[in-house]
Amino acid sequence: MKDDIKINLEEVHRRMEEACKACGRDPKEVRLLMATKTVTPERILKAFEYGELLIGENKVQELCEKYEPLSSVKHETHFIGHLQTNKIKDVIKYADCIESVDRLDLAEKLSKRLESEGKTMDILIQVNTSQEESKFGCKPEEAFALTEKIAKLPCLKIKGLMTIGLFSDDMDKVRLCFKLLQKIRKEITEKNIPNVSMEVVSMGMTGDLEVAIEEGSTLIRVGTAIFGKRNYPDSYYWNENAKIEG
Ligand SMILES: *Cc1c(COP(=O)(O)O)cnc(C)c1O
Repeated sequence: MKDDIKINLEEVHRRMEEACKACGRDPKEVRLLMATKTVTPERILKAFEYGELLIGENKVQELCEKYEPLSSVKHETHFIGHLQTNKIKDVIKYADCIESVDRLDLAEKLSKRLESEGKTMDILIQVNTSQEESKFGCKPEEAFALTEKIAKLPCLKIKGLMTIGLFSDDMDKVRLCFKLLQKIRKEITEKNIPNVSMEVVSMGMTGDLEVAIEEGSTLIRVGTAIFGKRNYPDSYYWNENAKIEG
C-alpha cells in the first residue's frame, strides 16, 4: 500500500522547489510548516519520520492534547490560530512560537505571563491583509504602530509577520495580500525598531503557496496538500463565531 503522507510531502517539496526556481530563489530560504489541525498524532508522527519537524496548531485544546503523544520526537511547534487571553498559559507551555499575535492586550498579557515564568517567546505579528471580517489579524494600517508597541514588551521577540491570503481562486487578488504584507514588512524594517526582526514572512498555504513564494514567503503553512481534506470548514478555525455544521 502506498503511504500517502510520504507521497504528498514529496509533491509539496516539488511544488516549493519549482516555485523557487521560477523566481530565482534558493529553496533553502523557504521552510515548510505542517498545519496539523484535526490531524491525529499517529499521522503527524508519520510525517516526522520523513523529516518534517515543524508543525502548527490552531486550537489550544489540540495543542495540549497532542503534546504528550508527539513528545518522543524532538520537533518545533507554532501556534497559528486565534488566541484568547484566557488560554495563554497552555500556549506558553507547549508552543515555540506564536504566529498569530494581532493585538496589544494579548501581547501585554503574554509578556507578563512569560515574565513571571522567566521565559521569552518568539512571535509573529498577524496582519489581516485580505480585510475579510472572518479573518483575524491586525489591520494593515495598524501593523506598524502595533509592532512598535509590542517591541517594548520585555519577553516577546518579534521575528516577522504572518498573513492568511484571500480565500479565492483569483490568484491576482491573493497576490495583492502577499504584496501588502511585504510592503508592511519593508516599512517596519526601514524604521529599525530595536528588538524587532522582520526575518520571517509566514504566508502561503495549499492553494497559494507558489504565489506566496514568488512574493517572498520564508515560511509556508500547508495542511490539505499533506494530510488531505479536513472535515471542519476553515471558518471554524478562522472565525470566532463560526459553528461546526452537521
Ligand atoms: C489550516 C491553516 C493552514 C493550512 O491550510 P491548507 O489550505 O490546508 O494548506 C495555514 N494557515 C492557517 C492559519 C491555517 O489555519
